[in-house]
Amino acid sequence: MVDVVVVGAGMFGAAAAKYLSRAGADTVVIGPAEPARPDVAALGEFAAHHDESRIARCLGWDLFWGTVDTRSTARYRGIEAESGIGFFTECGSLTLVSAALRDRTDAMLRAAEDDAVPVERIPADALRREFPDLAPPPMRGGVEGLLERKSAGHLHPRRLVRAQLELAVASGARLRRGTVTAVREDERTGRWQVHVHGEQGTFRVEAAKVLVASGSLINHSGALPAGHALDLQVFTEPNLLFEVAEDRLDRLRHLPTVVTVDPEDTGNDNLSAYLIPPVRYPDGRWYLRIGPAMQPVVRELRTARETRDWYARQRVTREQADFLTRMTRLLLPGLDPVSVRESCCVVDKTPTRYPYIGPLDARGNLTVAVGGNGHGARGSDEIGRLAASLVLGEPWDFPIPRETFAPRAEVPARDSRAAYLRPPFGLC
Ligand SMILES: Cc1cc2nc3c(=O)[nH]c(=O)nc-3n(C[C@H](O)[C@H](O)[C@H](O)COP(=O)(O)OP(=O)(O)OC[C@H]3O[C@@H](n4cnc5c(N)ncnc54)[C@H](O)[C@@H]3O)c2cc1C
Repeated sequence: MVDVVVVGAGMFGAAAAKYLSRAGADTVVIGPAEPARPDVAALGEFAAHHDESRIARCLGWDLFWGTVDTRSTARYRGIEAESGIGFFTECGSLTLVSAALRDRTDAMLRAAEDDAVPVERIPADALRREFPDLAPPPMRGGVEGLLERKSAGHLHPRRLVRAQLELAVASGARLRRGTVTAVREDERTGRWQVHVHGEQGTFRVEAAKVLVASGSLINHSGALPAGHALDLQVFTEPNLLFEVAEDRLDRLRHLPTVVTVDPEDTGNDNLSAYLIPPVRYPDGRWYLRIGPAMQPVVRELRTARETRDWYARQRVTREQADFLTRMTRLLLPGLDPVSVRESCCVVDKTPTRYPYIGPLDARGNLTVAVGGNGHGARGSDEIGRLAASLVLGEPWDFPIPRETFAPRAEVPARDSRAAYLRPPFGLC
């Protein structure tokens, strides 16, 4: 019997396992290795961290994201040094915000100043001079830039997860490769039986407590005990990867990551998107990556089958490709890519827009940490720390009350385009 089983060795689970084992809890973290081929993978093998880049930034849309992102970013270099695994590219982050959001921007900048996060507010003409390859998108009323030169850029999610798992194991945690197929409470002993389908067959781990951090597919993959399902919507996350020619690489590699924030409710004409400068992919080529915000081209995935098909095929829809191509042409008119690739992942959205970090049972022995809302990577270290401290029964040391993060049960028939999905979407 162990103290804690962490279900899901992804961004939240790996960080939580590190903090649990550092606190002295006998911890087993269970999750499958990355599948070699998406077309033959099982649902539990898909993950949002099987990729090469995620935007990292401290400027937050609100107190929660600003705090988890700032706290986590401040620890990146320490995690790199302790694990010996580099994952953070400090190329800066540029947020291009519609001038119509000036009041909101003022509030964000005041909060950033209070938190000592340095952000430069730059008018569009000065942006064009500093970043000649980049064109501010034509939003109504104009655009201004919020530039973080330090403590921002992009992180490598595969490497960050590997670093966290190595640190967890170095503190005594055990990593077991496999997919959890069932979590059951033994009514007689009150202990949890965690059933796993592993590489060498099935096995079972008994634990006093379970932390489920199995990502977007939490309702579908057997990671929650029967009778539990969370109010969480899963959406396609279509990306296009533009291969950058060698002779253009130097110019584009040093661009900051870019997020555009358009408040106009114009459906697929909305100009919100994100862009990550060229990163070297496992095929040895350099790709610049673009993704949408939550325009209608982003489709909800309602069933396990739809979700698996989306992942396995790795094909974006025609509308998604058109939208992303148009945004790329607007933002980088001179890109002229060598080739274009498609990439398909998923994001989960909670109605609170925050992760669920809290217990599902009255005794506090079954806890979840899930709901990255499309931007959980950069703050994952702090989210994992908060989850671990709840599991351990430690005092809650965060500026927002813990009840805010209480998991909500699934709602049978939710409007798939709920109000929280309308522009300006928040910074993604
Ligand atoms: C294309 C894309 C772009 C993104 N861009 C950004 C960005 O720029 N910045 C940012 O901060 N965030 C970004 N995100 C979001 C970020 O990647 C996620 O919020 C983050 O990965 C969530 O962490 P998680 O631990 O909840 O889920 P994951 O990282 O998906 O980890 C969950 C883990 O659980 C495992 N698992 C699932 N079921 C089981 C089971 N039954 N048993 C055992 N293990 C199981 C999975 O295999 C996986 O390893 C992006 C996401 C996507 C898809």
